[in-house]
Amino acid sequence: MLQDFKNFLFPKLCACCDAVLLKDEPFMCTFCRNELPLYPNFFDGDHDLHKILYGRVLVDQAASLFYFEKKGIIQNLIHDLKYKGNEELSFHLGEWLGQILLEAGWQSKIDIVIPVPLHSQRMRERGYNQVEGFGRAIADKLSATYNDGVLKRKSNSKTQVFKNRLARTEVVQNHFYVVGKSDLKDKQVLLVDDLVTTGATLEACSLALKDLGVPKLNIATIAITK
Ligand SMILES: [Zn+2]
Repeated sequence: MLQDFKNFLFPKLCACCDAVLLKDEPFMCTFCRNELPLYPNFFDGDHDLHKILYGRVLVDQAASLFYFEKKGIIQNLIHDLKYKGNEELSFHLGEWLGQILLEAGWQSKIDIVIPVPLHSQRMRERGYNQVEGFGRAIADKLSATYNDGVLKRKSNSKTQVFKNRLARTEVVQNHFYVVGKSDLKDKQVLLVDDLVTTGATLEACSLALKDLGVPKLNIATIAITK
């Protein structure tokens, strides 16, 4: 009753189109849920990340929940996730992709889920890392460990993308580092990120993780640019 009254005063809105949500519509309205551009995960080595990161990162398995399109409802969703502090939405999307991965047999393939870190200044501004819920939910689904303590990002560093691949590598590889001496050599690592476009961030993370003996990565993203 109290909850109904609260919902009446502060109705929950669709993360994609801002329509008022019905009781049984979590985070997005039924229309948007059906309209979101789902990424076709076939798990046959044909994921776009294999092409994007070819020659830069050894990718074992990759998966994404959505295609990203500018001006589409997916853009509103990612915006809500990044700037409106919608942590539960992040977790919800992780449960969504996590279920797909579980059904594809990833439970036996993943030991540790590591999120691409935000640097501390942005963490302070936003109060949360928008991929944390996503990563935690996937780890739960796959009975893996969520670990946001090993991979860190230096403060005040912004990933810069240069046209020259070599130059870009030299710049971005300094922005991530690993802490501690965890030996991940025999572990299957799943790196999670929100949106992948050029792959520069993932490449930089992979370079840092090599210091912990991780030769190849599994990657899961909320969205990937078409
Ligand atoms: Zn909607």
